[in-house]
Amino acid sequence: MPQDPTMERLLTFLQRSPTPWHATANMARRLERAGYRRLDETQAWTLSPGDRVYVTRNDSSLIALQLPAGKLEALRMIGAHTDSPGLRLKPNAAQSSRDWLQLGVEVYGGALLAPWFDRDLGLAGRVHVRRADGRTQGVLINIDRAIATIPNLAIHLDREANNGRALNAQTQMAPVLWQGGTETGFESLLNRWLYEQHDLEDVEVLAFELCLYDMQGASCVGINGELIASARLDNLLSCFCGVEALINADGSQGALLVANDHEEVGSASASGAQGPFLGDVLRRVNAHCGEAGEEGFARLIQASRLISCDNAHALHPNFPDKHDAGHGPRINGGPVIKVNANQRYATTSETAALFRELCREAGVPVQTFVSRADMACGSTIGPLTATELGVPTLDVGVSQWAMHSIRETAGSHDIDYLIRALTTFVDRRVLT
Ligand SMILES: [Zn+2]
Repeated sequence: MPQDPTMERLLTFLQRSPTPWHATANMARRLERAGYRRLDETQAWTLSPGDRVYVTRNDSSLIALQLPAGKLEALRMIGAHTDSPGLRLKPNAAQSSRDWLQLGVEVYGGALLAPWFDRDLGLAGRVHVRRADGRTQGVLINIDRAIATIPNLAIHLDREANNGRALNAQTQMAPVLWQGGTETGFESLLNRWLYEQHDLEDVEVLAFELCLYDMQGASCVGINGELIASARLDNLLSCFCGVEALINADGSQGALLVANDHEEVGSASASGAQGPFLGDVLRRVNAHCGEAGEEGFARLIQASRLISCDNAHALHPNFPDKHDAGHGPRINGGPVIKVNANQRYATTSETAALFRELCREAGVPVQTFVSRADMACGSTIGPLTATELGVPTLDVGVSQWAMHSIRETAGSHDIDYLIRALTTFVDRRVLT
């Protein structure tokens, strides 16, 4: 089925971003092609009105900024996260059992474990090496072929398997990689991959952060292609829509995209939403382009708005009782405003009203989600950023099924809806 260019770009972005580092590098590349200039946190910054710049931290979080032509008085901020739950290699990953070289894994975030079995798995992430000339260097690698699998146990060997089998991530989830391979075999594999992908020879691997991922690519599903299925829709979908909105915008207003790492593990890190990354960048930018001093900074924050984008749970036709009867978001029913009286979501009636107005102006349908009162509610970077910075915030997101599975499903029309609502936000002159 022929696809529109936005959908093509999204599918490619999902496919080429198996880790937060790859997602960040791909967003950076797209921003640069649109005229954004890279800033380095360790250097002095020169900023002028109208500049479009971006900065990364840990190579896994990114902030992109569009400065207004005049004085910086308010920012239209969009938030998202770059990380997704999954399996990551332990530092001494190689282990052998019987005839097999396997990889020891840690579970990152709240992954649904059962869908990881019987998949063709690739491996990607960041490796730090010492080169032959003594310098250390970090590189991204992506082994995008099926090099491993986690085989299921046959039902004949566990007749209770369909009645809910508890999974032990330590003993039952080590992928098999190589028949007859030895523990030193994994080191030689890593070295071979570094040579293949970066021409790096005679290097010593000092440390790595490597993630397993499903080789099955992102695709459109359904008789009319009304669904999109992929790994990491939570939350690369929001990262993608945020970048699209910035690039589509007319450039007249102050705007910002922040995509943080580590949301799935609580956001408490130097590059996470509970850390100082956004505040650090905003203070520096305000010193250059805004009203100087603490008072000027406080005024900038209070005049700004943050739309924190993270996917919502769509009403599931097989499990309709998991939603409150009046708040079951429909796939392809438009972005979902997420509300929680206990502030697990940062939405207030004021910020929700702004978003409803944006959707009305963009001609986009909008929905609301609140958890059943007898179920716990998830959370996201919205409340954390609001708490750190004090910026009026709301939580929204595209609705999806199977959140945190190795393959998630969302609505293909919802992507266009969210991009249009966010673009309207970035271009809006008045925020209050
Ligand atoms: Zn998320």
